[in-house]
Amino acid sequence: MTYKTIIVAVDNDGTSEQVCEHAHALAQACDATIILLHVIEPLHPMAISGGIGAVHVSSGPTGEEHQKMMKESEEKIAALQEKLGKRVVDCRIIDSALTRKAIHEVAREVDANLIVVGSHGRHGFSLFFDGSTARELLKDSPCDLLAVRIDQ
Ligand code: AMP
Repeated sequence: MTYKTIIVAVDNDGTSEQVCEHAHALAQACDATIILLHVIEPLHPMAISGGIGAVHVSSGPTGEEHQKMMKESEEKIAALQEKLGKRVVDCRIIDSALTRKAIHEVAREVDANLIVVGSHGRHGFSLFFDGSTARELLKDSPCDLLAVRIDQ
């Protein structure tokens, strides 16, 4: 099995580079292309997540806040794209209240073979309260999933 289309989901915090470097090395080895993807959640999560997905409580950002988030995301993703070079064939920033669903939808649309995400290795209370995107993505994943262990 070789990977041809790899989606790298980045949350644009300080750990995205680690995830991207790992995905890039794999893409080089497989001669694969990379699609960078960031999901902007319009609602602020109240950290209640479980078997049926995240529950979001709170009002969404104002138009101005959203514009700011979009601009920051564009800048960060552009910086990652520049670092990774020509393997990156597409960058997407998507508004969605459900990060898992949005990532899976893009994976299906582009017929991705692999989704790469970071994993903070949370457990116990931390996992319960903060959840884990990598775990969420495992449910009904349309393709393989690689969770890169993040060294903090
Ligand atoms: P988390 O479990 O939420 O700390 O996130 C773990 C990993 O999931 C991150 O390192 C990213 O690869 C991915 N991820 C989390 N949130 C997002 C997001 N909003 N958009 C894209 N990828 C995300």
